[in-house]
This record gives sequence, structure tokens and C-alpha cells, in this order.
Amino acid sequence: MSETIFSKIIKREIPATILYEDDLALAFRDVNPQAPVHFLVIPKKPIIKLSEATSEDESLLGHLLLVASKVAAQEGLTGFRLVTNNGAEAGQTVFHLHIHVLGGRSLDWPPG
Ligand code: AMP
Repeated sequence: MSETIFSKIIKREIPATILYEDDLALAFRDVNPQAPVHFLVIPKKPIIKLSEATSEDESLLGHLLLVASKVAAQEGLTGFRLVTNNGAEAGQTVFHLHIHVLGGRSLDWPPG
């Protein structure tokens, strides 16, 4: 997989506001927030998108959800939404798996 902006954030080659880090995952604020709280949770493993994950990644994917929930609580959110854009036609622009976590305002349904 070619280098993405997110692998540069993991390596601290470009700055980001990091909210959480462990051996497997990183959470940082989205640079173009779509809600008062908008952060991204990524695996350190460079998985391109959800549909490229395999059964080997099962516990890692579960871990990302728990990190999302933990950091949402840290940010004071009770209601929040998780979004993963899978592929360009779904709006994915950075090809390193990430979960958007959005909150701090009421969120419409269905999303656009
Ligand atoms: P997606 O369109 O689902 O691939 O989401 C990519 C997200 O990454 C967008 O919401 C961007 O605002 C965000 N983003 C891009 N570059 C950076 C960066 N350097 N730091 C933080 N967020 C970024």
C-alpha cells in the first residue's frame, strides 16, 4: 500500500491533534470538522478500507470500535455517530481505513 497522509500522522511526520494512542490504534481530530466534535480512529496497520480487512483483523476492528467509544466519552459525547466511507464512490478520500466519530450536535438521518 502506498503511503497516505494518515501513515505520516502515525509516524509524526505531519502534525495532528492526537486524542488517543495505543499499540494498535490512533485517534486524532479531523482537520475539516463536520460537527463540533469530529475525530478519526485509525488502525496503525495500513488497511486500505474496510472491505480489504480479513478475518485476521477481527479483533483489531473490534478494538477500533471500543477506542471510538472511549474517546467519545473522553470528549463528553453521549450521542455520537460512526461513519466509515468504503471506496471512492462512498466518499473515501484517504485510503487508510478510518472511522469518523461525529457528535456535539443533532445529526440528521438519513445521511447524504
Ligand atoms: P474520507 O473522505 O472518509 O476518506 O475521510 C478523510 C478525512 O480525513 C476527511 O474528513 C478529512 O478532513 C480528513 N483529513 C485529511 N487530512 C487530514 C489531516 N492531515 N489531519 C486530520 N484529518 C485529515
